[in-house]
Amino acid sequence: MKTFCGRANPTTGAMEWLEEDENYDYHQEIARSRYADMLHDKDRNVKYYQGIRAAVSRVKERGEKAIVLDIGTGTGLLSMMAASAGADFCYAIEVFKPMANAAVKIVEKNGFSDKIKVINKHSTEVTVGPDGDMQCRANILVTELFDTELIGEGALPTYEHAHKHLVQEGCEAVPHRATVYVQLVESKRMWSWNKLFPVHVEAEDGEKIIVSPSEMENCPGVPSVCDIQLNQMPSNDFTVLSDVVTMFSVDFSKPVKSASTYYRVQLQPVKSGKAQIVLSWWDIDMDPSGKINCTMAPYWVKPTSALQWRDHWMQCVYFLPNEESVFQGENVYLTAYRDEYSVWYKLQKAREEENKADVHVESPVCRCQAHLLWNRPRIGELNDQNRTCQYIKSLMKVLKTDSVCLCISDGSLLPVLAHYLGAKQVFTLENSAVSCSVMGKISVLLGEPFFTTSLLPWHNLYFWYARTAVTMHLASDVTVLPQSASLHVMIVEFQDLWRIRSPCGTCEGFDVQTMDDMIKNSLNYRESREAEPHPLWEYPCKSLSDPQEVLMFDFRRTVPQHCLSAEGSLNLLRSGKSHGAVLWMEYHLTADTSISTGLMQISNDKGNCEWNPHCKQAVYFFSSVIESETLTDLPSAVMYAINFNPKTGEITMDFKLL
Ligand code: SAH
Repeated sequence: MKTFCGRANPTTGAMEWLEEDENYDYHQEIARSRYADMLHDKDRNVKYYQGIRAAVSRVKERGEKAIVLDIGTGTGLLSMMAASAGADFCYAIEVFKPMANAAVKIVEKNGFSDKIKVINKHSTEVTVGPDGDMQCRANILVTELFDTELIGEGALPTYEHAHKHLVQEGCEAVPHRATVYVQLVESKRMWSWNKLFPVHVEAEDGEKIIVSPSEMENCPGVPSVCDIQLNQMPSNDFTVLSDVVTMFSVDFSKPVKSASTYYRVQLQPVKSGKAQIVLSWWDIDMDPSGKINCTMAPYWVKPTSALQWRDHWMQCVYFLPNEESVFQGENVYLTAYRDEYSVWYKLQKAREEENKADVHVESPVCRCQAHLLWNRPRIGELNDQNRTCQYIKSLMKVLKTDSVCLCISDGSLLPVLAHYLGAKQVFTLENSAVSCSVMGKISVLLGEPFFTTSLLPWHNLYFWYARTAVTMHLASDVTVLPQSASLHVMIVEFQDLWRIRSPCGTCEGFDVQTMDDMIKNSLNYRESREAEPHPLWEYPCKSLSDPQEVLMFDFRRTVPQHCLSAEGSLNLLRSGKSHGAVLWMEYHLTADTSISTGLMQISNDKGNCEWNPHCKQAVYFFSSVIESETLTDLPSAVMYAINFNPKTGEITMDFKLL
């Protein structure tokens, strides 16, 4: 079956119809899935295995048959662990068809077909009885349905249903319980992702300040969780205001209620400061005694030796609706509200007496629109004083009192800056709609450039296409800011990110190569190996080559008809594993002022990289890792061929070791 999907091309802005065959979506899903990352999560796997063995023994000690229900079996891993641990039978439920098919193959390959029945259904559709999917209710419930927020993938309603319909009363559950922890902090850096700070502009006629409207000041923001690799947040970027406290826990071996509720704790700040952020993470106890514990606690809470890197579970940053001064030793009350799928927080000074039944637990909704226009990294970017200074400096250079400016960028402060800096007239095109009727010719064309539709760095070349589309409105001596952009590339070794795309082979003794092959097949689907966006400040890497400029895009001219291409080689300067190439854009505002959306600097001779903290960079993972233990080892260089097609706006690339 073929379907045609309409979409706006993020780079050219053109409306196009793509022919997608029915396999496209799931190949995307598999290729970009977290399964590889989970299989590489040794700490998780080992603890699940221990917990499952312990649960099977407890059931056997009672003289019962061990009947396992594994909801969301994925590769079948946890069911195979249960079967190996001596379970009599496992029902492995998986809603995602390609994964259920993979589970059947993996289970067969590992010789468990007689012990494990894979059922391709959502757990709430599973039937029990002589003619049902399951012969009888299970007495061991095994799941791994958690996301960074614990409940965001629907664990609560799934457990609620399973206890009512699929498992016996008093069943064993692995994990046995989950506990959510919180810590109150002050952090200018994290708060800058949620509120727009005043922007100071030194204009000819005195200082002007851009302040956010009071609606934004008082807006609770958006309900979506902010999940990050908190271990990459340096300790001087936040101040701890409270101890770590337990917010709530869920016992998975008992009936679970998914209905909205709240949990409240009393805190005494350990330090006075501005309460802005609630940092949160969870742990799971695999057994009732709590001896087998798998925790997401960040580095300052547990010894770094115990840190397991993982990307499928990170930590949460919750923004309090407003910042509030708290004082060391005073009593404050922190409330976690939750519905079936998400959690949010409120801080109060006085204990409010509420009846649990009639508490209104409405999740935050953005009332100011700004949180919908700007996502969190974008608000952080707009709050970056250094960056704003660069734009101001460049604007001051190009603006004259008779300047007529047109700004093309989404949700940009540039029009306001241009106005404050004395431009005669400022027009702005928002939401990528390039149609304009302006009076007179434009003398200055501005862009950050930034567009909400951009996923990969070069999608912001939309500015170039927009510039081309408005050419008839531009004065012959128009100044374009930025005047040009360049694409840069560097070969890197990732500390950890490589895991998400690397084959696993065996996992705790089980052969999961079928999964590896499936991921590889999906990555190579229609030979479309693509770069993918990642915010690299969260994923440390070291540079193995120097950064190199590969393509230049001249915004002073229109988009050319012909392709732009570059071929060359990148010398490997340091020993290490070449996991892939990182690509990013730099914008040259004027001849001497540039803004990098990627590499800020290579900090030392070890090649540690500092990345722009507001932007995602493009990562192209090599299909096979190029390894060199020492510099004298081959290879010494990586060849690249990079091509920009102006018709499609696409950048394709190929890398080979020399
Ligand atoms: N158990 C595997 C995979 C965990 S990922 C492991 O630990 O390695 C979670 C899987 O659960 C996904 O494949 C998802 O498709 C599936 N899933 C989530 N909720 C489900 C439900 N209610 N019923 C069936 N499958 C579910």
